[in-house]
Amino acid sequence: IFITVEGPDGSGKTTIIQMLAEKLKKEGYEIVATREPGGIEIAEQIRQVILDPKNTAMDSRTEALLYAAARRQHLAEKVRPALEKGQIVLCDRFVDSSLAYQGHARGLGIDEVYSINQFAIESMMPKMTLYFDVAPEVGLERINENKGREVNRLDLEKLEFHQKVREGYLMLAERFQDRIVKIDASKELETVYEQAEMKIKELLNR
Ligand code: ATP
Ligand code: C5P
Ligand code: MG
Repeated sequence: IFITVEGPDGSGKTTIIQMLAEKLKKEGYEIVATREPGGIEIAEQIRQVILDPKNTAMDSRTEALLYAAARRQHLAEKVRPALEKGQIVLCDRFVDSSLAYQGHARGLGIDEVYSINQFAIESMMPKMTLYFDVAPEVGLERINENKGREVNRLDLEKLEFHQKVREGYLMLAERFQDRIVKIDASKELETVYEQAEMKIKELLNR
């Protein structure tokens, strides 16, 4: 079963995926927790190119294509094999990130960005997507307090950009209601975690 976790920077995706993976593994589920862009060597290399703060000259379409390329390799090398073995894949970001960030916030168009991703994923969409909704002011504040986090090119974006990202995600949640589950990520960590776990359990017991 393929499950993705989405949301703006600082919404809690990485923290909660780690908590979920730990808990579900203890309960005997076979979990593969992974992330995008990255998750395997080639895609981590592409990630470095995309996020390098020096690469200020990067064109938006180049950026969208690199995300799609990283996604393709990660899907082919890690996600698809795990799904074929019957494992549960929890993926930190997937296509919706590209639609919200490059499609909506960068203005390339959600449908255009979806079409290049369609080539990359060949219809392998997640069964369920947990969308962690939070105002960018809150998310960015959390990130600033997280001193261990490495600075990336996106950290140089203005608040306005992150507001557009959230707006994009909200449009997607509206449009794909049967797949995307919206969770209020402004709540405290334990509450967000419980909501996420409940939704996953509902899916697993369906
Ligand atoms: P990014 O998109 O930048 O990778 P993320 O969505 O993965 O961000 P995390 O790295 O999980 O977010 O969380 C960012 C910081 O906020 C961490 O220090 C984490 O401990 C903290 N945090 C996460 N969720 C909450 C919450 N609900 N309440 C308060 N702090 C939180
Ligand atoms: O979630 P993670 O911290 O791995 O993402 C790294 C950076 O890449 C974040 O700052 C995020 O905003 C950015 N990103 C992006 N477009 C995507 C996916 C991630 O700009 N499609
Ligand atoms: Mg993260």
